[in-house]
Amino acid sequence: MTRRLGIHWFRQDLRLSQNPSLEALSKKVDLIIPIYILDPKHRIGSVSKWWLEKSLKNLSDNIEKKNGKLKIFIGDPSDIIQSLIINRNIESFYWNRLYDSYSITRDKKIKSLLKSEDIDCETFNGYLLNEPWEIKNKSGGFFKVFTPYWRYCNEITRKKKPNKKIQNIKFYNFNLKNSKNIKDLNLTNKKLKWTDKIHKHWSPGENNAQLQLQEFINKKADSYSVGRDRPDQNLTSKLSPYLHFGEISPMDIYNQVGISKKINSQNKDKYLAELGWRDFSYNLLYHYPDMTKNPIQNKFNKFPWLNDNKNLKRWQKGLTGIPIVDAGMRQLYETGWMHNRVRMIVGSFLTKNLLLHWKFGEEWFFDTLVDADIGSNSAGWQWISGCGADASPYFRIFNPILQGQKFDPKGEYVKKYIPELETVSNKFIHNPWEMSEEKQVTCGCKIGKDYPSPIVDLKETRNRALSAFKTIS
Ligand SMILES: Cc1cc2nc3c(=O)[nH]c(=O)nc-3n(C[C@H](O)[C@H](O)[C@H](O)COP(=O)(O)OP(=O)(O)OC[C@H]3O[C@@H](n4cnc5c(N)ncnc54)[C@H](O)[C@@H]3O)c2cc1C
Repeated sequence: MTRRLGIHWFRQDLRLSQNPSLEALSKKVDLIIPIYILDPKHRIGSVSKWWLEKSLKNLSDNIEKKNGKLKIFIGDPSDIIQSLIINRNIESFYWNRLYDSYSITRDKKIKSLLKSEDIDCETFNGYLLNEPWEIKNKSGGFFKVFTPYWRYCNEITRKKKPNKKIQNIKFYNFNLKNSKNIKDLNLTNKKLKWTDKIHKHWSPGENNAQLQLQEFINKKADSYSVGRDRPDQNLTSKLSPYLHFGEISPMDIYNQVGISKKINSQNKDKYLAELGWRDFSYNLLYHYPDMTKNPIQNKFNKFPWLNDNKNLKRWQKGLTGIPIVDAGMRQLYETGWMHNRVRMIVGSFLTKNLLLHWKFGEEWFFDTLVDADIGSNSAGWQWISGCGADASPYFRIFNPILQGQKFDPKGEYVKKYIPELETVSNKFIHNPWEMSEEKQVTCGCKIGKDYPSPIVDLKETRNRALSAFKTIS
């Protein structure tokens, strides 16, 4: 009896459970060949490479427990897939969809290649609650404003049935020419000392994603609606990198949070709406495929951005002299992650007080975040710099001192990442340059020597930004 063979192509769905493509394929064929292809043309940041290496190891171990072997390749997926299907009697070839323009074009080409070879090729949604083309407004177009988008999207999501657990995945294990070991992908670079630090803060992989979700549901979620704004308290789920690599599905999170009796409805609604922002970012990316580079609002093409490499470097290194900004940038460099409230503060500071183009922020974040994500990152930067759809208006300029005093009232977050400021009192922790000379001596922190003086005047640069905005309004 011939066994029916199928290939599942893992991409940003590095999990075995709640994986719609794997589930459908396991019903269709007798044995599955699991593959992963590192496509050098697909954008990936330095810290994400670190995560990917660990995640592939975890996935590969889980597949081995089921007597299979993850086949790993590097190169042009189209060429690799072509060579894989020759003379192998592959009946089906399935994957979960991606939504950036490069992947869409590439995947369409591969799908027609497979169809021309008479291979059953199907693709699925394993990455979003709802795909961009599913959500239409009353006039048949797409939503550009989050609130009505989410109202509609949430209704539809509530009615979706959870994916069933796959009982019987049977993997096929055989030798394949050109298949590589994870190490051959050269994802981690020994010279980048900075990625060495990241491992202390994160444990990638499907099993850890579930543990992280349980910890959130049991210990943090019931304080989420207030706690999510407090960088000094560890009250968000930190599921973003797991979601990015598809080690957990948003639908799984939506359902587990939705049925939990430990979370009141206000906190539930707030948390689920944040998952909605993730979908909304992909909704925007799908409809504005070049939004990683170009502003959604055209008028921002004429914005008089400054060219100041020195200030950009100070921002990247957390040496701007504005404590909450520096703490955020150092948290990012130290841990590969930054609290959402602080992402907004450092983003506003870069694009409005320093008047530097948001694309510099987008690029730096993309390289240094464990959750670097084409959709959420570009949407986040366009939102904070005011040039996106449903963006924070340009004239809303965050005051980092007030933000710090409100969301890090005791300065604990600042002190954690800026030890130079450990001895500064609460009163001055977010504006240490206002301490008298005498106070600076008493607390042992001389501004301009132990910690930088602010690189810009906040009030002056606020006015400068407003004037710059007038030139394009
Ligand atoms: C300038 C800027 C850049 C950003 N870049 C990224 C990025 O590259 N990758 C990324 O995943 N998020 C990005 N975000 C969104 C947000 O900051 C992170 O998703 C969040 O901080 C992740 O932490 P968490 O998992 O603890 O979030 P939680 O508060 O626990 O939220 C749960 C999940 O909801 C989603 N989410 C929450 N807030 C947002 C949001 N504003 N936009 C989109 N999705 C959201 C995330 O998937 C998150 O894991 C960015 C925000 C800004 C302002």
